[in-house]
Amino acid sequence: MNFHVLTLFPEMIEQGVNTSITGRAINNGLLSINAVNIRDYAFNKHNSVDDYPYGGGAGMLMQAEPVYLAYEAVKEQIDKRKQEPQKHPLRVVYLSPQGDVFNQKMAEEMAQEEDLVLLCGHYEGIDERVLEEIVTDYVSIGDYVLTGGELPAMVMIDTISRLVPGVLHNDVSAEFESFQDNLLEYPQYTKPAVFEGKAVPEVLLSGHHANIRRWRLKESLRKTKQRRPDLLQHRVLSKEEEALLEEIAQEESTQSEEL
Ligand code: SAM
Repeated sequence: MNFHVLTLFPEMIEQGVNTSITGRAINNGLLSINAVNIRDYAFNKHNSVDDYPYGGGAGMLMQAEPVYLAYEAVKEQIDKRKQEPQKHPLRVVYLSPQGDVFNQKMAEEMAQEEDLVLLCGHYEGIDERVLEEIVTDYVSIGDYVLTGGELPAMVMIDTISRLVPGVLHNDVSAEFESFQDNLLEYPQYTKPAVFEGKAVPEVLLSGHHANIRRWRLKESLRKTKQRRPDLLQHRVLSKEEEALLEEIAQEESTQSEEL
């Protein structure tokens, strides 16, 4: 998968993604990161890419033209690689606190793209006209305001990358994770078997696969119920899950009676 990041700080993106799992995937050719410096497309002699907003107000705004030229350069590169202009519009995500809040489902869907353009704003944002012209998706990483879109772009690259086949050594590890089908992951343990007097749950040492599966499902349900009950509301529960939730509710009421 190819990520193209339009940014005023390409070195931030390059340094941020070139380590660990994403770094290895880049070296293996499973991912490519094309960090494009919008400033290279400044069209005035001062090399500036921002100006005061019309109508007044605090801060500066990124100008439309350099952003558009940077986008066109990326589009041209992609068309050249594919040896024809693309019929479908290129997927261009503008990282913005005004966008849809990023989640695992969006990551799964975007991981299907061969090319994804991520546009990072800075200062007070970007001239609306170029956004209207090139942006297909507006994505936020949460209800707070950052100084720029680079950290959000890296959050998206990291999340999407691990869903690209081959990026994680063990593809199964992306399969049973939190948010898969609206369930949080069960608790996990590794050596030693006893830590600070706390033993690993007996069932995990038993080697009994059916019991381990049932325990994990139950603990996933318990965690989701405790931490993200909103997710459970969107899950279509099996008969087994309904029974496990009933068991959990009974355990909870016994515990509260004991207190
Ligand atoms: N004035 C803008 C507003 O109120 O919507 C905020 C601009 S912010 C200071 C500068 C840039 O940071 C934005 O253009 C966007 O690219 C990025 N940014 C800030 N917060 C973000 C968030 N929660 N999610 C995604 N991108 C964000």
